[in-house]
Amino acid sequence: MLMIGERMKTWETIKQTLINFYNDSSVDPWLNTLNVISFDNNSLIISVPDQFSYDWIKNHFLNDIIRVVRDIDGNGIEVSLILEDGNTDEINNIEPVKGNQFIDKVEAELREKYSLENFVEGECNKFAFAAAQAVAKGPGHTYNPLFIYGGVGLGKTHLVNAIGNHIKKEYKLYVIYVSAEAFVNDLVHHLKTNKMDSFRETYRNCDVLLIDDIEFISNKEKTQEEIFHTFNKLYEEKKQIVFTSDRLPKEIPGIEERLRSRFEMGLIADIQAPDVETKVAIVKKKAEQNNIDIDDDIAFFLAYNTLSNIRELEGYLTRLSAYAYLTKTKLNINVAKEVLASVIKKKDKWVTIEDIQKAISLYFKIKVSDLNSQKRMRYIAYPRQIAMYLARTLTNASFPEIGTQFGNKDHSTVIHSVNKIDNLYKTDQSVKDVIEKIKKGL
Ligand code: ADP
Ligand code: MG
Repeated sequence: MLMIGERMKTWETIKQTLINFYNDSSVDPWLNTLNVISFDNNSLIISVPDQFSYDWIKNHFLNDIIRVVRDIDGNGIEVSLILEDGNTDEINNIEPVKGNQFIDKVEAELREKYSLENFVEGECNKFAFAAAQAVAKGPGHTYNPLFIYGGVGLGKTHLVNAIGNHIKKEYKLYVIYVSAEAFVNDLVHHLKTNKMDSFRETYRNCDVLLIDDIEFISNKEKTQEEIFHTFNKLYEEKKQIVFTSDRLPKEIPGIEERLRSRFEMGLIADIQAPDVETKVAIVKKKAEQNNIDIDDDIAFFLAYNTLSNIRELEGYLTRLSAYAYLTKTKLNINVAKEVLASVIKKKDKWVTIEDIQKAISLYFKIKVSDLNSQKRMRYIAYPRQIAMYLARTLTNASFPEIGTQFGNKDHSTVIHSVNKIDNLYKTDQSVKDVIEKIKKGL
C-alpha cells in the first residue's frame, strides 16, 4: 500500500465521515471491506475483495465515497474502484467510475422497497399500521393529516413510504415524499435563486404530500410558513398529507401555534418499541426478503440482543450475511455470536431490574409482589437475595436504587444480600448453577 502518514489519516477521516454520514450500522461492514491500494494527490484507488462487494459498493456507495473524498481532499482527485481477486499481484482493473454529478436536486422520491406488505405488524405498531392502511386505501378521505410519531428506527419512514407506494400504484396519484430536511434545503435553494414560484408549484400541486421527520422544522420560521400555506391548499382540496416525527406535535419546540394545531387536526398515531416476538418476526421477514438463511435461534439471539431500534437489528443481519457471503461460511448460532461480538451491545446494559424480578418469580414460583414485600420467610428471602445480586451485577443500578425497586428496602439490606450471594456463588456449585440458569433465561 502506498499510503503513509497523512494519507492514512485522510483515509481514516474519509471513512469516518462516511460512517457518520450514513449513520447506519448496516453500512459499516461494507465500508470495512474497502482496501486502499494507492492514494496520492491525483488519485485514490480502492479495492474490494470480490464481485459481490464490488457491485454492491458501486451501486450503493461509490458516489458518496467520491463526494466525500473530494470534499475532504480537494476536487481534482480521481477515484477508482477495483476488484482484487484474492491475489494481490493480479488486480483486475475494471474501468474506474469517474466523476460524480452531485445532483443539486431535492430527493423527493418514494423509497420503493418499503411496502405495506413487508411491514410486520406487532402490538407496538398496530395502531399506526392500521391508520396507515386506512389512509393508503382512502387518501384524503379518512384521516387528514395523519401524524405518525415514534422513536428512532421503529418504522416511521417505512410506513410513510408504504402509504405513498400503495397510493401511487393503486390510484396513480402524484405522491411527493420528502424529509423535512430535504424540504428545507429545497426551500433555501429556491429562495436563493429566486424561484419560489416553481417551489410552490411543486409542493402545492401534488396529490399526496408525505413529510418525514417534521420535527426538523423546529424554529425555522420561513419553512413553517411555507408548510402552513401548502398544508391549507392541499387540505382544502382533500389531498392527503402525512407527517412523521420523533415526538408529539406539542413536544416539538419552536412550532407556530397555527401549524401545531393543524398537525393535531387529523389522527395522531404512535409506534412503540417492539417486543421480542415482533423483533423475531421482523428479522425473519428481512432475512427471507434478502434470501438469507437463518435459523430461529439466530433470530432470537438478534432480537434479544438489540434494544428497540429495528435499523440496528437489520444492521446485524446484514453484517451476518456479508460475513457468510464473504467467507463462504455457513451461519449457525456460534458463528453469529462471534461475528457480532464486537458490535453487539453488552446485554448487561439493558437487563432491567423488572426483568430480573420476573425471571426470579418464574424460577422460584413466587410472586413479584412477594419479592417486593417485607416478608422474611426463607422461600422468599433467598430468591430476593439472588434477585438483588443479579440486579447489582447485571444492571448499572446503585445499591439504594435497587433497594427502592424492591419495595423500599434499605441499601444496607441490598449490600448484605449481594455479598452473601456473591460468596455462595464462589463456594457453592449448586447456587452457581441456579444463578447461571436464571441468567440464561434473562
Ligand atoms: P424510523 O423512520 O422510525 O427511524 P425506519 O422506518 O427507517 O425507522 O425503520 C428502520 C428499519 O427498520 C427499516 O429498514 C424498516 O424497514 C425496518 N422496520 C421497522 N419496523 C418494521 C416493521 N414493523 N416491519 C418491517 N420492517 C420494519
Ligand atoms: Mg425515518
